[in-house]
Amino acid sequence: MKKTPTIDEIVAIAKRRGFVYPNSEIYGGFIGLYDYGPYGAELAKNIRSAWWRSMVQLEDNIVGLDSSIFTRPEVWVASGHVGGFSDPVVECRECNTRSRADHLIEEAGGFADEKMTVEEINQVFDTYREKIACPKCGKKNFSEIKNFNLLVKANLGNFTEDWSKEPVYLRGETCQGIYLNFKNVLDTTRVKVPFGIAQIGKAFRNEIAPRQYIFRKREFEQMEMQMFVEPDREMEVYEVWREKRMKYYIESLGFSKENIQWHQHENLVFYAKAAWDIEYRFPFGFKELEGVHARGDYDLTQHQKHSGVSLKYRDPTSGVEYVPHIVETSVGVDRTFLAVLTEFYDTDELGGDIRTVLRFPYHLAPIKVAVFPLLKNKPELVAKAREIFDLLKVEMHCEFDDNGNIGKRYRRQDEIGTPYCVTVDFETLEDVAVTVRERDSGEQKRIPISELVHTLRA
Ligand code: ATP
Repeated sequence: MKKTPTIDEIVAIAKRRGFVYPNSEIYGGFIGLYDYGPYGAELAKNIRSAWWRSMVQLEDNIVGLDSSIFTRPEVWVASGHVGGFSDPVVECRECNTRSRADHLIEEAGGFADEKMTVEEINQVFDTYREKIACPKCGKKNFSEIKNFNLLVKANLGNFTEDWSKEPVYLRGETCQGIYLNFKNVLDTTRVKVPFGIAQIGKAFRNEIAPRQYIFRKREFEQMEMQMFVEPDREMEVYEVWREKRMKYYIESLGFSKENIQWHQHENLVFYAKAAWDIEYRFPFGFKELEGVHARGDYDLTQHQKHSGVSLKYRDPTSGVEYVPHIVETSVGVDRTFLAVLTEFYDTDELGGDIRTVLRFPYHLAPIKVAVFPLLKNKPELVAKAREIFDLLKVEMHCEFDDNGNIGKRYRRQDEIGTPYCVTVDFETLEDVAVTVRERDSGEQKRIPISELVHTLRA
């Protein structure tokens, strides 16, 4: 088995090669926020495309949606977020660092999660108090645990001074927009229950202690699918989706089986029928990548109650009316991004040198082909390489590079995970062929220019 890279190795290559930058870096950074650089933006786009392809394009009964980040504030009351979307926070009395109490308990070998009451968490914390130290100063002097609401508030459309009394919320998850449009989609498309709505978009949470790089951000992106099903088929559909989602990571993204596992929630919220997470072996251990949940009829029933609008479905054959139950799959773009970097980061020895290489599958690679003239100062080579670059760039995402020696250019492309490099040399001018070098093996082949597009695609 390949060694899992350290988080420092991932952070270093992601910064050095333009995948991830700290947000507002010239001002000293902004906790919980990161920006995707040129190759990161491409990788994130390819991650979204892979998910969309498998969820919307390849599924006959799932349609896409792009709902707004803002909604009426009542939505978050109905969903339970205003009242209960909180994490237990504990403050160090010595250095004032705030931490997630459940995470500190877990690190000390105990169990707690955000679904427990504050009293329950305080009790568990007391049991482990001796073993828990502040992650910043190492002291063991903590405040009482309190719940902190994670919704991020804003003043959109509110022009008063004390807007914070009547805030609107930046969405804490994308799926509420799906529930709000359930009836619209039903009324304007050909879908019939069971059907799903898929959406990709930004979500915002005032995470108390955003840590572990892009694993836990305050502004992040979710890819969520909500399947609306007949009540008595919920668990059957749930099992189908558990299987599909695990298969997706192994077959579509190419993750190895040893790096991915199921984890069953120990505590279920009162309305849920089942909740399992797909965990990935991140550099800091197995952690949640995706949640697959059977949510009963809670979501639509709540919105029906709070809006006063019926969200019942009438079966066209039997005429029976019911509130559909929901099976949800929910994963972050950013966590997938970190899992992809972890999975495909590798080092090996090639031509006597140790190199770092990102062995992305072709469909995830930010750049598919790099085109080089052998020498920068030979106009005939540069012109021919430009011609080949122009030929290829309409077919696949390419990069032109004439900087430095060929070995250095290969290393750079290895580090951004480019599967193929095409070099134009003096022979090209004679035999109308180029050298194609494959990333993983370093193997080089001579390919006629007329067959280049076809060969690279194959
Ligand atoms: P955790 O327990 O790690 O906080 P969660 O159970 O709150 O996660 P969900 O609300 O189920 O997460 O969100 C679904 C998915 O959205 C997660 O599996 C994860 O991939 C992603 N996600 C949630 N919170 C964040 C965050 N702060 N930063 C990045 N991705 C996130």
